[in-house]
Amino acid sequence: MRSPIQTYLEDLHRRISNQNSGELASYIPELTKANPDWFGICLVTLDGVAYSVGDSAQTFTIQSISKPFVYATALADQGRDFVLSKVGVEPSGDAFNSISLDPQTGAPFNPMINAGAIATASLVAGDTPEAQWQRIESSMSTFVGRDLSVDESVYRSESETGFRNRAIAWMLKNFGIIDGEPMASLENYFRQCSVLVDCRDLAFMAATLANGGVHPVTGKRALPTEHVERVLSVMATCGMYDYAGSWLYEVGMPAKSGVGGGIIAVLPGRFGIGIFSPRLDEKGNSVRGIEACQQLSHDFSLHVFNQVGQPGMALGRVYSGADAPSRREPGTAMRDCLNAQAHRIKFLSLHGFLAVDGVEYIIRQMQKMAPESHSFILDMHQVTGISESAARLLNQARQGLGAEDIAVVFSRIHDRQFIIDPLSKATHSGDHGFLSFEDNDLAVEWCENRLFGIDASTLAAPSSLAESPLFAGVPEALMRQVEAITKSQSFAMGVPILVTGQACDGRIFFIESGQVSILVPLQNGGHQRIASLGPGMNFGEMTLLGQTTRSASVYADSDVKCLILSTADVDQLSDQAPLLKIALLENLAKDMANKLRRATQWIAALA
Ligand code: GLN
Repeated sequence: MRSPIQTYLEDLHRRISNQNSGELASYIPELTKANPDWFGICLVTLDGVAYSVGDSAQTFTIQSISKPFVYATALADQGRDFVLSKVGVEPSGDAFNSISLDPQTGAPFNPMINAGAIATASLVAGDTPEAQWQRIESSMSTFVGRDLSVDESVYRSESETGFRNRAIAWMLKNFGIIDGEPMASLENYFRQCSVLVDCRDLAFMAATLANGGVHPVTGKRALPTEHVERVLSVMATCGMYDYAGSWLYEVGMPAKSGVGGGIIAVLPGRFGIGIFSPRLDEKGNSVRGIEACQQLSHDFSLHVFNQVGQPGMALGRVYSGADAPSRREPGTAMRDCLNAQAHRIKFLSLHGFLAVDGVEYIIRQMQKMAPESHSFILDMHQVTGISESAARLLNQARQGLGAEDIAVVFSRIHDRQFIIDPLSKATHSGDHGFLSFEDNDLAVEWCENRLFGIDASTLAAPSSLAESPLFAGVPEALMRQVEAITKSQSFAMGVPILVTGQACDGRIFFIESGQVSILVPLQNGGHQRIASLGPGMNFGEMTLLGQTTRSASVYADSDVKCLILSTADVDQLSDQAPLLKIALLENLAKDMANKLRRATQWIAALA
């Protein structure tokens, strides 16, 4: 299937290609060499897919689009306060080359006009102008995701003719905004403007800002998250110079244009857009670039103030421990308890990036369910991230519910540090921290134990063979004979007792003490735990049915003591006492019917 996004972008490109108004920038002589008909559009998603049309591989000089990225670099190097003391964040509403300085302090109004950008270039880290240039070049390269180079002829062309910018740099020196050698900072500014990019590169730079400062493909961080909103703010208010107000009104995305003909637009959290067409309007913005952004924004409802929140999206399915009980075989007492109470264990599948609005919704649902709940399992499998503020609220809810004796536990966070960190940070002294389980089965088993009021010591209590449901209905005298033919064996914690695919040797296991897990191998090489068994329960009994290989692996979760019975011995004994074999097979059939019922329940809960 052809992507409808690609088709849309091609239509858009075709429609706007007829638009021939505007002129090439000529005040930098070298820029007049561009072909006025060049036109490329590229849109990059936050998972790194680029949709490109037209002259998307044609390189050109980035010009003023470098400004937000060098501003980002200065923020990362010097911190917000220092940078703010040198360059303001007020839209000047003036042309890009205006000399808009604060009458009191001499600080440029914002970093998007030339005066602010030249001052910003002087702020990046580096002991010498050369070291500062290295820093600028490598920082911009991280935003793009590849090594960049400078168009030397455009650089020289601007350096030889940029008298106005030279005057601005001396003014900045005069006001003490630039500390060092102003001409060296100016040359770095000219060089940053002459960096060669294509519109695909621009779209990746925009997407990196949209993605909280991390490049969607390389995964490298180009900017600490806290500065991203600062860069996007000045782009939103000042990025299009004296067209900034109309741009926000009509298009509504933080953006930046350059006299080389490029424009970037950022839809935070969604995607990045890069457009290139060198014919400019009288304000120095690409005519087709503006047109394309307006249409894109309109057709796809991209205006930042038109984003409809859907807090309910954070919560997927809600079901209970009655729908999805643990796979352990409960003893009779526990089964009765769970039949009556398991619905008080609630599973909540959380989805997407959890921000304050989504978490507020989740907490409200937990509050509503609280009167009939004993524990909540928050399944984090589909969660892509959580903000610190959302983690704080969730943690407060966990503690609040804890005070009402309702447990809130997490499952399937796995080793995703970007979820663990905000959650851990939200806990504080006096709080025992949050409880998190590898899978839903372990989580619900913990909740069931809590419901039943048992702890691990109860589970470790030894139990006799006669109590095993497998021997239900076997008379006591016969039981004595069975006990006489069983052997006892111990297994250390962590060892495999049975392995999938292994030949059946006819042994049936009865757990005297300890816990085991039954695991089935998965295609990806991992294992799925399908049950956990404790004292009084048995495994390996399928061998009674003449199975030739073991269908699952069994691991000792703790030190385990088992009684082992061999089918050969059972058969021998059954020759004189057929009742034994009949009872065993009947009990086995009942047990399997139970398991089947449970499996059906699980599948229904998953559907
Ligand atoms: N290098 C150009 C200048 O300083 C950048 C201007 C722009 O792209 N708007 O004039």
